[in-house]
Amino acid sequence: MGVLVTGGAGYIGSHMVLNLADAGETVVVLDNLVTGFEWLVDHRVHFVKGNVADADLVAKVIGDHDIDAVIHFAGSVVVPESVDNPLKYYRNNTAATRDLIETCVKGGVKHFIFSSTAAVYGMVGLEPVSEDAVLHPVSPYGKSKLMTEWMLADVAAAHPMTCGVLRYFNVAGADPQMRAGQSTAGATHLIKVAVQTALGHRDKMSVFGDDYPTPDGTCVRDYIHVADLVSAHALLLDHLRKGGESTTMNCGYGRGFSVDEVVSTVKAVTGIDFAVEHGPRRPGDPASIVASADRIKALGWTPRYDDLAGIVEMAYRWEKYLDTRNDRPSIY
Ligand code: UDP
Repeated sequence: MGVLVTGGAGYIGSHMVLNLADAGETVVVLDNLVTGFEWLVDHRVHFVKGNVADADLVAKVIGDHDIDAVIHFAGSVVVPESVDNPLKYYRNNTAATRDLIETCVKGGVKHFIFSSTAAVYGMVGLEPVSEDAVLHPVSPYGKSKLMTEWMLADVAAAHPMTCGVLRYFNVAGADPQMRAGQSTAGATHLIKVAVQTALGHRDKMSVFGDDYPTPDGTCVRDYIHVADLVSAHALLLDHLRKGGESTTMNCGYGRGFSVDEVVSTVKAVTGIDFAVEHGPRRPGDPASIVASADRIKALGWTPRYDDLAGIVEMAYRWEKYLDTRNDRPSIY
């Protein structure tokens, strides 16, 4: 029995690999290294460079390693980029995933876990959003992920494969043992940008909009530690392997922080008072997205790192580690 992790050389995938390898699982990583890094892949697992839509390659991996479960992280994740280049998102997140699912069905894979996103909800109110909320993604990114959710629901109904969909809220932090962290070149995510600014890699950073209908006017997000996120996948895998039904679950803590609160926390944790300007809104940003976490907690998920300062501290430590590497990924 083995687990295929697509995108296992990327940010979240590399943490999933650590979780599975620590648990003694046989793991194969499939990654095309377009945004991932081979050095992020734990040495205990097999690494295959290639594309998820390469049916011959994926079929061989499934057969060679007796793959019973696929955890599919590979994809494109930058919301503003998806607005400028939607077809890239429909190719990488939707079309390529369709091909991967087909190969999995043909290869007799029993379980498929998919990285979805809170972006499938679109503009929601200030209350925590439950999995049953109306889905109205505004960005091509969110739509490209939602289309795959629909495919998986139909596939799970038609074929003997159970599917788990996890809708990620705002993932941040790094492996507590500093074996992996967010390393993507040109990252745009708030905590990453803020720690890079603290370290002087950027002269200043912007807060995108301060006139939202939130307590301090800046956007509110549910920041989840990457180690807690991957432990949710492990729990879901266990559920499916024990015969549990296909399901869709939010991955967040059920509480939010504003952009200003995050920036203050980064300043407090690093002890560095960096330059922050308040700029215009970023197109497509909902005012607030906070998870209702009841469903995943009912499955037995017990997060260990629900602490914004701790998340920031680990992100900061990883960023400092990257500075010691001479192949440090570009920040732009
Ligand atoms: N944000 C910001 N400045 C930045 C990066 C992000 O003000 O340099 C804001 C962004 O507008 C959003 C929040 O931080 O309100 C979280 O954005 P991020 O890109 O981290 O994740 P998203 O919620 O878009 O998935």
